[in-house]
Amino acid sequence: MSQRRTLFIPFDHLHRKYGILREADKSRDRILFVESARMCSGRNWHPERLFFLISCARHFSEELRAEGFEVDYVQAKSTAEGIKESLKKFPDHTLHATMQSSFRLQRALADLGCQFVENDFFLTPRALFEEWASNQKSYLMENFYREQRRRLDILMDGAKPTGGAWNFDKENRLPPPKNYQWPEYKGFERDAIDREVAEELGIELKSTWATTRAGALRQLKSFIADHFANFGPYEDAMALDSWSLHHSVISPYINNGLLHPSEVVAAALKAFASGKIPIESAEGFIRQIIGWREYINGMYWHLGAEYREENQLKAQRKLLPLFEDSSKTEMNCVRSIVRDVEERAWVHHIPRLMVLSNLALITGTNPQAFLEWMRERFIDASEWVMVPNVIGMGVHADGGRMMTKPYAAGGAYISRMSQYCGGCRYNPKLRVGEDACPFTTLYWDFLDRNKELFAKNHRMFQQINGLKRLSDLPQLRERAKEVLSALELGEI
Ligand SMILES: Cc1cc2nc3c(=O)[nH]c(=O)nc-3n(C[C@H](O)[C@H](O)[C@H](O)COP(=O)(O)OP(=O)(O)OC[C@H]3O[C@@H](n4cnc5c(N)ncnc54)[C@H](O)[C@@H]3O)c2cc1C
Ligand code: SF4
Repeated sequence: MSQRRTLFIPFDHLHRKYGILREADKSRDRILFVESARMCSGRNWHPERLFFLISCARHFSEELRAEGFEVDYVQAKSTAEGIKESLKKFPDHTLHATMQSSFRLQRALADLGCQFVENDFFLTPRALFEEWASNQKSYLMENFYREQRRRLDILMDGAKPTGGAWNFDKENRLPPPKNYQWPEYKGFERDAIDREVAEELGIELKSTWATTRAGALRQLKSFIADHFANFGPYEDAMALDSWSLHHSVISPYINNGLLHPSEVVAAALKAFASGKIPIESAEGFIRQIIGWREYINGMYWHLGAEYREENQLKAQRKLLPLFEDSSKTEMNCVRSIVRDVEERAWVHHIPRLMVLSNLALITGTNPQAFLEWMRERFIDASEWVMVPNVIGMGVHADGGRMMTKPYAAGGAYISRMSQYCGGCRYNPKLRVGEDACPFTTLYWDFLDRNKELFAKNHRMFQQINGLKRLSDLPQLRERAKEVLSALELGEI
């Protein structure tokens, strides 16, 4: 009889056709899932996140059982302990898994003598990305993306990009439209497994997130049918009358394996081929999947395990109370966005980058404190995706290794791209005085505090030069101190 195997499936590899499960054999292999207490307790994990991760894994394990597999679904103190306990019952088994998605888990499994297969939950093998990255002077995503388009032959007409350009950002970047009917976001029905998980966690059962592959596929279908055509133009907009706008809201599912990126790309290309999707939306969306997502994963592995500890701007402020509790601020943008996070553990890219991370950046919040908050509060937060997005893109803690300049912005940007400022007690145009928008004050203060550092960065020249036009810099510095103290007290 051939060697018996235990196949370990972490909660982010839930796809029957990829990774170690692709070649699983019922007569030889046993499947192991570990629900670790480390994942569920000890931190301020968002209840929706816990519910989602656990319910998806339990549904998936049941589907494998129904297919005829022997499945061991164990609860343990940690993943490693769960695996060890399970293997004790089957001493003749060897342990197998797909290459894990984080340095920590990869090490833990290697220490247990696990044998790995290549991680094919992405479109780019790690070695291929490494080859690209090690030949770059600066890691421009745009360069990687163009290579991906050529390599995967996506949106190409021969050697030329479809539509005659590599991107159509000028057509995108529109503010939210007025009096617009956003298509309804359809929630998901709940079943016995969902109810059981919610009861164990002691939480209210909500309908926001799908917990099965069928549900994830339905969300992809609904994006393609109702949102894809308008994805590009409103990609950067922030609205009060819709929490998901025309975004796909599929990140939790591609991150936990219920959807594979190749399935998402195939669905998008099929819709584009039908002629109903404008190129600016097709290209904008495809870039997120084959460009940004792959680039971020590649950079996680390329930059190494120590990268998450970077703090080049020496930002030491503790996490502001408004991140933990939306009622601790009167800033309409932050209050609305943190409330959305409280409600469903998700907001789209621009609130993450230009409001939440921007605030952490310009207030000098400690990058690791902010990273941990985001890891705990977001439905789609996995180590590989959070670390480069927060440390590199969000708060520029790596001194520009990944992004050439910080995404710092004042109230003018938020005012242009959102519906928040009209109903706010602050004025985005003012930088000093009681009514000054905290973003505007702190944006200039951030540039002022870091002007020597950024003077060497030619991409920051215009912004730093703008400081010279400020006649009220002394008052601005004073106001910034007041704002920072009030933010620490949750009083602004
Ligand atoms: C500070 C910060 C933290 C972030 N943390 C996460 C995270 O924990 N998990 C996560 O999946 N994304 C993260 N992102 C990226 C992005 O914000 C989300 O992927 C996106 O908002 C998810 O919503 P969506 O599925 O509707 O995406 P869409 O806007 O519809 O885009 C489609 C898909 O593209 C991919 N994508 C787009 N941008 C990125 C990116 N920068 N990195 C990785 N994938 C990307 C995602 O898989 C996403 O589902 C973060 C971005 C920032 C700035
Ligand atoms: S005025 Fe400033 S704080 Fe208020 S919503 Fe606009 S950007 Fe946010």
